[in-house]
Amino acid sequence: MKFCQSCGREAPTIHVDYYQNIGAIFMRFSKHMGGHFCKDCSNQYFWSFTSITLFLGWWGITSFFYTLFALPNNIINYIRTFGLESPDPNTPRQMLTDAVIRRIKPYTAELFKRLNSGEAIETVARNIANRAIASPEQVIAYGFAVGRELKERKA
Ligand SMILES: [Zn+2]
Repeated sequence: MKFCQSCGREAPTIHVDYYQNIGAIFMRFSKHMGGHFCKDCSNQYFWSFTSITLFLGWWGITSFFYTLFALPNNIINYIRTFGLESPDPNTPRQMLTDAVIRRIKPYTAELFKRLNSGEAIETVARNIANRAIASPEQVIAYGFAVGRELKERKA
């Protein structure tokens, strides 16, 4: 994959899956983040998901076993990224803030229509970014985020 599915930058990526759990005795709140990510994004999800799970994951029976699975899984995925090259430091990571999402959202249908018709993602992203006052990376990251959401809703 040429683009990081989290930050939208052109960078070396690897497919990783990270899990987080917060146990609350009779309830639990878990989340998953997975995809082809660059080293920066992978590191960020690894550290935040793993530290939260390490301290808050254990409380509850299901949570206990979920945490026993999540922690080693996260560590294995993190180790797999050791050989991955870091993204170009001259292209800093730009977060997809709510304000940016609101500006890109009106172009969602156009974005997917043009990608489905076979236009290059770089061209479409650059073109929409100009009008949405965003960066092309943010448009690409937005496209992947919408894709993830649709996939999760189907599951
Ligand atoms: Zn990234």
